[in-house]
Amino acid sequence: MTQSDISPVDSPSAFDPQDWEAFRVLGRRMVDDLVDQLQGLADGPVWQPMPDAVRAAFRAPSLAAPVPVEQVYADYLETVVPFAGGNRHPGFMGWVQGGGAPVGALAEMLAAGLNMNCGGRDHVGIALEEQIGLWVRGWFGFPEGAKGLFVTGASMANFVACLAARSRALGAEVRAHGLGEARLTAYAADGAHACVVRAMEMAGLGRDALRRVPLNADFQMDIKALEARIETDVEAGFRPFLITATAGSVDVGAFDDLEALADLAARYGIWLHVDGAFGALGVHSARVRPKLAGLHRVQSVAFDFHKWGQVPYDAGFVMVADGADLTEVFASPAAYLSREPEGLAAGDFWPTDYGPDLSRGCRALKTWFILRSSGVEAIGAAIDRGLDLADLLRRRIAEVPELEQLGPSDLNIVCFRWRGMPGGGGDTTALLDEQNRRIARHLQLKGRVAPSLTRIDGKVALRAALFNPRATVSDINALVDGVRFEGAALAGKANP
Ligand SMILES: *Cc1c(COP(=O)(O)O)cnc(C)c1O
Repeated sequence: MTQSDISPVDSPSAFDPQDWEAFRVLGRRMVDDLVDQLQGLADGPVWQPMPDAVRAAFRAPSLAAPVPVEQVYADYLETVVPFAGGNRHPGFMGWVQGGGAPVGALAEMLAAGLNMNCGGRDHVGIALEEQIGLWVRGWFGFPEGAKGLFVTGASMANFVACLAARSRALGAEVRAHGLGEARLTAYAADGAHACVVRAMEMAGLGRDALRRVPLNADFQMDIKALEARIETDVEAGFRPFLITATAGSVDVGAFDDLEALADLAARYGIWLHVDGAFGALGVHSARVRPKLAGLHRVQSVAFDFHKWGQVPYDAGFVMVADGADLTEVFASPAAYLSREPEGLAAGDFWPTDYGPDLSRGCRALKTWFILRSSGVEAIGAAIDRGLDLADLLRRRIAEVPELEQLGPSDLNIVCFRWRGMPGGGGDTTALLDEQNRRIARHLQLKGRVAPSLTRIDGKVALRAALFNPRATVSDINALVDGVRFEGAALAGKANP
């Protein structure tokens, strides 16, 4: 029988390799190259801009004819790897992002090889996710009926929790009738993440219904101001339904007082949610854990395994104290989702009943590999390392006259700024703001360290968020020296 005698439907899948041995060789090369990159991260830049030719290569209006996968891989090495976002590099400190545990990359490859759809049905992908949920429940001290699931990130997790709180207030009928005349109001600190606002917009409640509560001197939600606002809203006929506390604010790493908020929320019958995007995993550090006192009393938590947990993107997680609060929002009676007592359509936990997605990949496998092989001790150690580096950075800032720290910080996020050469005098805030922006941009373009910018008390600040467990003392020194050098250059002097 010749090739042409085989009917197309009996031939191998066009997606399967024509030459499995060559495929195996390519796979081994990919792993070798990845390991080389990970071992040599510090030798290259944090980040570099894409040259015009590379950018142009990604703007082809149509797909070219197929080429051998070896060619695609060569293009990947040349045009993708050098221009990645940089968060795996030890000098990346601009944003709240994890560095990624290498074993997670291998596990992600294995997960893709299994190609499980983890929306539901009876298979091990679901069991893996339930296992992670049980561990999380234990870490947070949540009750037996608690349920959690993976989502893309804390943004989605905060949205899911907002919907659960909305349903608790309005009943499951909100799914049929919509919001009607409900005048629901929610509360979050001024320092809350922008995705908390977006959750209100996406939930159809509108961002005006999110009351922003002023911060106290420690950048926490001011409890008295919160209570006063709730009272005012109740008197005006609104229905307070949700308080979103922040455990680890993105700007300064502040933790709201969960015990006080739990007392107040219980008194008013309001759902208390915690945006613990990075901070919730602080339960694994003895130095952060005290800031999370009261966590076991809240109704829901959003957090990310991809920040302090170092699981490769993406791996957000939402957990509610009572799983029924999620099924009330998401479970659906569609016929093709119906359950059987045995067979593939069995299984009592279908994530699609607890979240917005039906088809979803297996984020649990990479998380399971990392947690089992490194333990939560590794998370605690990575957190403490960031805290120690932040301490060092604060000490160095205090020693350098042209630098000043901004905002409170006893955590791993340090905001500061260049304030002009000693004795320079006369620099206006507007000029310093512009100079600090330039300093951040220049440092990013040079590629040794990459801080970001934020605004603290109305001033532009450089921000170093120390989440990457690969960072060392030399990265902190490079940041301080780099800011001094760039600042001096801007001030018209060659060297500090
Ligand atoms: C990172 C972060 C978010 C957003 O999480 P994503 O995973 O990026 O969606 C929300 N809140 C806080 C406090 C964060 O640090």
